[in-house]
Amino acid sequence: MAEREYEAVIGLEVHVQLKTRSKLLCADAAEFGAPPNTHVCPVCLGLPGALPTINARAVEQGVRAALALGCTVNPALAFARKHYFYPDLPKGYQVTQHDRPLAGSGSVEVPAEDGGDGVRTVRIRRVHLEEDTGRTLHDPGARVTRVDLNRAGIPLAEVVTEPDLASPAQARAFLVHLRRLLEYAGASDVAMEEGGLRVDANVSLRLAGAGEAGTRTELKNLSSFGGVEHALDWEIARQAGVLRAGGTVEPETLLWDAERGEGRPLRGKEDSAAYRYLPDPDLPPLELEPAWIERVRASLPEMPAERAARLVAEYELPPGQAAVLTSTRDLADYFEAVARGGAGPREAAAWVLGDVLAAVRAAGVPLSEFRVRPSDLVVLLELLRQGVVSRPGARRVFARMVETGAAPVQIVAEEGLARSEDEAEVGRWVDEALAAHPAEAERLRAGETRLADFFVGQVVRISGGRADPREAEAALRARTGG
Ligand SMILES: [Zn+2]
Repeated sequence: MAEREYEAVIGLEVHVQLKTRSKLLCADAAEFGAPPNTHVCPVCLGLPGALPTINARAVEQGVRAALALGCTVNPALAFARKHYFYPDLPKGYQVTQHDRPLAGSGSVEVPAEDGGDGVRTVRIRRVHLEEDTGRTLHDPGARVTRVDLNRAGIPLAEVVTEPDLASPAQARAFLVHLRRLLEYAGASDVAMEEGGLRVDANVSLRLAGAGEAGTRTELKNLSSFGGVEHALDWEIARQAGVLRAGGTVEPETLLWDAERGEGRPLRGKEDSAAYRYLPDPDLPPLELEPAWIERVRASLPEMPAERAARLVAEYELPPGQAAVLTSTRDLADYFEAVARGGAGPREAAAWVLGDVLAAVRAAGVPLSEFRVRPSDLVVLLELLRQGVVSRPGARRVFARMVETGAAPVQIVAEEGLARSEDEAEVGRWVDEALAAHPAEAERLRAGETRLADFFVGQVVRISGGRADPREAEAALRARTGG
């Protein structure tokens, strides 16, 4: 009964790192994992007199992200300083965008969180560029806090949604979809473990089915999909408890503590005046040529929904398979490379969704580093189609390809996995299978024909995949009178 009478109104602010080689305002590397304070210069250290310059690639990546989210790009941009004090912010302000952001008025169609056919439209209020801050590293043992400024100045896009989400599960589905769109667009890798995605959420409750949304609170410091869902569940339950007890929800900002699984009040909700936004005098407004924006748009690849629809139309795949195959651009590329190789799209889809995905997961590597390249799989499927190897034999060859990276033809030759053409040899395997299971053999001879499949399986196993199941079945029939 608990949460029945209220429904949630949720909006998200998502910070994603844009894929660039250097930072937003200086030439330092934007890579992750370097020793602390090695990618710093006078600009990102905030030294007096240092002058920033805008990284054109970061602007282009921001435009790619915005277009992927269906936004209208603003041709006249301005950068602002957002002032606050924190040890990881050496300048005392963050360069961001305030009243003339990069883009706005977008919307995305998020696949239903339950995996069904439905979609939910989530409007994008704005997308703006800003620089990341440094990191504070607390060392309670030594009773010190250290600051690493490698991340200070890394280019981010902040994506702000309208409050169009009604549950924690929908929020998660939105984030999964957002990551997919940005990966397809090549704008961001959204690598969360590297700080590539951070989320703030605002939440209010209203009476189910009607009514104005109540007071909003903001949750900060959400850094994983699961964390977002967990924190929203917690905050919705907290607000519902307050309301049910006859209290009022205070407008406040809560810092999420993922370890404890609870939020704690950070400060009274700041209005924008508290940040004293000012135009940045070192960064002149930027004019984007409409023709350039159109060139960026034209350079975007086919996005996941269009691509899934094309896979259904072009290869006659079931929509569910097309949806999984387009879950990442790499996987869709891999599938299409195999499907165009001649084995037929259904065979290709079955292998990619089955053996390939299982092996990639087991290897724990990204698909781009997977040993079996599409061209090798095409050759293997051709050997299977021509009957050079049996189906079980093909799976053994595939397993060896995963282990060794060798070419399929070489493995077939080395391991003697070519399908047996020798009728007498198949006959010996059948005899061996019958001898190993005398009781079943007796029942098969007595007319229990469904045992034939069992024996064919045994023959394939005994032969190490070299027996063709159809020949095995014929030999079996000849011996048992089936
Ligand atoms: Zn720098």
